[in-house]
Amino acid sequence: MNSLLTRWDTDFALPPFADIRDSDFAPAFEAGLADARAAIGIIAGDTSPPSFANTIEALELAEETLNRVAGVFYNLAGADSTPDREALQRDLAPKMAAFSSEVTMNSALFARIEALWQGRDGLGLSAEQTRVLELYRRMFVRAGAALDGAAQGRMAEVKERLAVLSTAFTQNLLADERDWWMPLAEADLEGLPDFVVAAARAAAEERGRDGHVLTLSRSLVVPFLQFSPRRDLREKAYEAWVARGANGGATDNRAPAAEILALREERAQLLGYDSFASYKLEPEMAKTPAAVRDLLMRVWDPAREKALADADVLTGMMHADGINGDLEAWDWRYYSEKRRLAEHDLDEGELKSYFGLEAMTQAAFDCAGRLFGLEFRPLDTDLYHPDARAWEVTRNGQHIAVFIGDYFARSSKRSGAWCSTFREQRKLGGDQRPVVVNVCNFAKPAKGEPALLSWDDARTLFHEFGHALHQMLSDVTYGFISGTSVARDFVELPSQLFEHWLEVPEVLDKHARHVKTGQPMPAALRDRLLAAATYDQGFATVEYVASALVDLAFHDGAVPTDPMAVQAKVLAGIGMPHAIRMRHATPHFAHVFSGDGYSSGYYSYMWSEVMDADAFEAFREAGDAFDPETAQKLERHILSAGGLEEADTLYTAFRGRMPGVEPLLKGRGLWDPAE
Ligand SMILES: [Zn+2]
Repeated sequence: MNSLLTRWDTDFALPPFADIRDSDFAPAFEAGLADARAAIGIIAGDTSPPSFANTIEALELAEETLNRVAGVFYNLAGADSTPDREALQRDLAPKMAAFSSEVTMNSALFARIEALWQGRDGLGLSAEQTRVLELYRRMFVRAGAALDGAAQGRMAEVKERLAVLSTAFTQNLLADERDWWMPLAEADLEGLPDFVVAAARAAAEERGRDGHVLTLSRSLVVPFLQFSPRRDLREKAYEAWVARGANGGATDNRAPAAEILALREERAQLLGYDSFASYKLEPEMAKTPAAVRDLLMRVWDPAREKALADADVLTGMMHADGINGDLEAWDWRYYSEKRRLAEHDLDEGELKSYFGLEAMTQAAFDCAGRLFGLEFRPLDTDLYHPDARAWEVTRNGQHIAVFIGDYFARSSKRSGAWCSTFREQRKLGGDQRPVVVNVCNFAKPAKGEPALLSWDDARTLFHEFGHALHQMLSDVTYGFISGTSVARDFVELPSQLFEHWLEVPEVLDKHARHVKTGQPMPAALRDRLLAAATYDQGFATVEYVASALVDLAFHDGAVPTDPMAVQAKVLAGIGMPHAIRMRHATPHFAHVFSGDGYSSGYYSYMWSEVMDADAFEAFREAGDAFDPETAQKLERHILSAGGLEEADTLYTAFRGRMPGVEPLLKGRGLWDPAE
């Protein structure tokens, strides 16, 4: 019996993880695809006149089985991969892309949607239904439904090839991250705080070795670069870290990246756009490449100026250490940490003792409770990995969602942090409540030790939880516009906004307690932490904006035959500071090449930050970070609304106006209103 295809008779209809075997996936996908094809064939072949119910609503329900199976599989492939799962993922990529093309290029189906759209005024549709119809039509047109036969065929080939390439890109990156590690002798541990030593020991254990090893996991390599006084080891680790995807051989990502860019360009041209960026930005809040470049450049100049001034200070510190020459990329974090200690007296090691994973999870839950009335109850249930945990989320005793937190790094998990769903919210065909997961890569503590987070980690936890709220509080009829199904440059608003609550002093007082003593963080330490929030923002902004500008250059204008050369040209053109590199260089720029999500869209974090800075200001203006009326508006117009309306309409409904760039510059300490 294939447990993926049976009725899930579990609590909250969670996937029956304990019964699912890897061998179930391939046949379940086959069955899901067959079901979906049959259902769509019936819709397209219907001889009765098209109606919203027999076309759009039927489409909404046509992929039930497939969505259920894919919901389990892709979550596992990201969070707990195995060679078998990787092989199946490679196998599925072209099949799923082909299926998707088959649907969007089904001319009989498109004709029904087009007829509905043309006659929409006479259909008596609700506002939500009109919006869903509009978005379906837009999806079909943008996928090539209105193209002639030959162009459609080529479009399908292009998409299939893109799916194969982006899967390869992801897997190459995972392979490079998994295959590199550096043993650390006892002497190499000098200067490293306990939590780094513990993480290096855990990493060694995971690889079946004694002692300590350094891996390329961000939560291990970044603190190593911050704390290790060994310049030679820092250089070695840094160079390995930034060489991911560019090591030559079978896992090199430079050729796939070039091919991906060429195919995207072809795709945009088939649809009549002058560049992939114009095509991609059309449904976004930004709308045009010029608007994106304008925002990025308004931030670039003040950020670069700040970073160059900081580089001078750090170079001086390095020279005082007796090391001559230029400050290099592997020196920045080390001297910056020293400077932070000197100027802000913030000791990352000391700080970590106040950010237990357990307490920070409770802090996120507590904020969600105070803002939106949500309650969280631990669930005792089988999940896909022993490190993952689940909670039932309720409000006034009513079931809202199941939330899964999967927080620790492991070699089977891809890097980064993300939020996804096993099941999304919708009301069509019965009230379906979501199952939402947050996946992070926090260093796992040694046995018996509490898990500690850095300030960055804690922010990541809050960030992903903000996405989770967007999914859990979703309240729409159609899955197509549920939760985070919004413009890409709007989707980071709930997540980045939620990060602000971690900085609320009363939240820190209540939850940031010493893991051993239970004492609250001393007020002086807390104030220093908050004062240091804008510390090194020149660096952070420069490494981010540089990546966003390279992403934009790749997709706007002539397609680069040599992306690495274009990357170098863009960086030279903007005067990239010598000691700072892109946050993500091309060969490991997964946002841009692991899929289409953030291609010519990496700017969207900053676009969202413009809004989150301004949105949190609404709570400040109300005089209370938990102001009930503002929280209610936030839920009504943004967190529950999904893609009900265009993003600027939703934002304006919440705030009464659109935001400017000033709160962001102020928030990052890059703009002084007195100047
Ligand atoms: Zn995010």
